[in-house]
Amino acid sequence: MNIGTKVSFDDTAIAFESKSDAELYKMYLLFKMMNSNALVKIGGTLLNTALNLHLPVKFIIKQTVFNHFCGGETIEESERAIRELSRYHIGAILDYSVEGEGDEKSFDATRDELLRTVEKARGHALIPFSVFKVTGLIDINLLEKVQARQELTADERAAFERGRGRVNAICRRCHEAGVPVFVDAEESWIQETIDHLAYEMMALYNRERAIVYNTYQMYRHDRLDVIKRDYATAVQEGYYLGAKLVRGAYMEKERKRAQAMGYPDPINPTKEASDKLFDDALRFCIGHINHIYFCAGTHNEQSSYLLLDLMTEHNIAPNDRRVYFSQLYGMSDNLSYNLAKAGYNVAKYVPYGPVEAVMPYLLRRANENTAIAGQSSREFNLIKSEMDRRRAVRHR
Ligand SMILES: Cc1cc2nc3c(=O)[nH]c(=O)nc-3n(C[C@H](O)[C@H](O)[C@H](O)COP(=O)(O)OP(=O)(O)OC[C@H]3O[C@@H](n4cnc5c(N)ncnc54)[C@H](O)[C@@H]3O)c2cc1C
Repeated sequence: MNIGTKVSFDDTAIAFESKSDAELYKMYLLFKMMNSNALVKIGGTLLNTALNLHLPVKFIIKQTVFNHFCGGETIEESERAIRELSRYHIGAILDYSVEGEGDEKSFDATRDELLRTVEKARGHALIPFSVFKVTGLIDINLLEKVQARQELTADERAAFERGRGRVNAICRRCHEAGVPVFVDAEESWIQETIDHLAYEMMALYNRERAIVYNTYQMYRHDRLDVIKRDYATAVQEGYYLGAKLVRGAYMEKERKRAQAMGYPDPINPTKEASDKLFDDALRFCIGHINHIYFCAGTHNEQSSYLLLDLMTEHNIAPNDRRVYFSQLYGMSDNLSYNLAKAGYNVAKYVPYGPVEAVMPYLLRRANENTAIAGQSSREFNLIKSEMDRRRAVRHR
């Protein structure tokens, strides 16, 4: 435990307080299965194929990985997860995890679903944010074309304007409902277009406080400079900067594309370099807190301890609404539950959507939890520690 804070992420009793022995054992079996690299690879492919063939595997998926990592198939089904988290003062961020089919009809449908999440969050203290991905609202190829400054046809210009209208409709509703919203970060070849949309929305809606938060992926070596630049612009233009800090989820894809196309890799050369930039970004945000609202979207314990220390050093109250911690549902409960118990602002992404549509998300989570170099995943070890602790208490 770090000096200056009263939080320990090793406290598994608090981390799994909400889980009965039977639930904990179910988690143990699930994470034990995911520990096996081969099983995740083969199992993932088999389940996907079975779903595509309409074989009756949905029930199995729903009772296992889906139930652990997702709120439900709809907002209504996610109520159970929202309530469970709220009992422990942890916020829920309803994350509609369906990737659109790429046509105008599906983009409109996604916008409408996202507006429903905003309505659900309106006046709901424990749904503190909404969230969306711009690729759910605008064609990814069009985003790339805009970024590459390629000439657009009249139809493409109209499509982009419709997409911007969808982004604005969500941000406007969030402003009106008083619900801050995260704009998720995506691949570097579309990120500049996403950034510009986010800046436009911040200038419109962040005048009284931050409603729109852009996401900064600190695995990109240029992002700290970008945060500093965006902060200076926000101060100059009289709005608050909203920033979600993450390390970044598309490293392999980014490196592969850069190599294939022969441009410099936008990603830091090492994990340590990404860690340093993430931590420097935390220092910058805390140091400029009078004009920045931010959220640390991370499962990294050292960065989370650092943020706790920084808050103490700068006399920032745990429940100051300008600082949030965030993790994904079904992961790093040792961070979420311990932070919430100590009075810090914490919210978890609660993904939801039809089982078939969230399969790519579930497979990413399963892959993240396989053993690395023979070492069991961190989640698995935490569950085991808590089971051992409970056993020891019973035998005392
Ligand atoms: C609430 C929340 C919201 C998120 N939103 C987004 C989002 O909008 N966009 C997005 O892209 N991701 C998002 N993520 C995912 C995030 O970017 C990370 O992939 C994930 O959280 C793992 O990083 P970490 O900080 O939790 O911890 P760690 O496990 O300490 O870090 C792992 C990360 O370090 C980086 N890394 C690993 N190896 C190397 C290497 N060799 N060189 C350089 N860097 C390396 C990678 O980014 C990797 O994901 C979100 C995560 C959370 C918890």
